[in-house]
Amino acid sequence: MPLYEFRCPEGTSFEASFTMSQAPRELACPSCGQEARRRISAPKLSLAGSSEFKLIDATKRSAHEPEVVSNRLPGSGRSSATGYTYNPLHQKLPRP
Ligand SMILES: [Zn+2]
Repeated sequence: MPLYEFRCPEGTSFEASFTMSQAPRELACPSCGQEARRRISAPKLSLAGSSEFKLIDATKRSAHEPEVVSNRLPGSGRSSATGYTYNPLHQKLPRP
């Protein structure tokens, strides 16, 4: 069901869910009881599937199920990185 946004004369905004055919134009405000008018707001459908939405999803997911790291961290495998050139001239270069 779509979410509709209402705003009362005192400025309180709240949301309520209705079917599209049953959405009222006015609804009683939960804080002051006055009639709150339905506002026209942008639907939040375009966010689904976008990279922004995926980033928000991944960030929330990483809070309780972090990704498993199977590779070594960069910089921890120095010994394996030593012999990747066989040019004898490279042996004279200074080591970091
Ligand atoms: Zn109100």
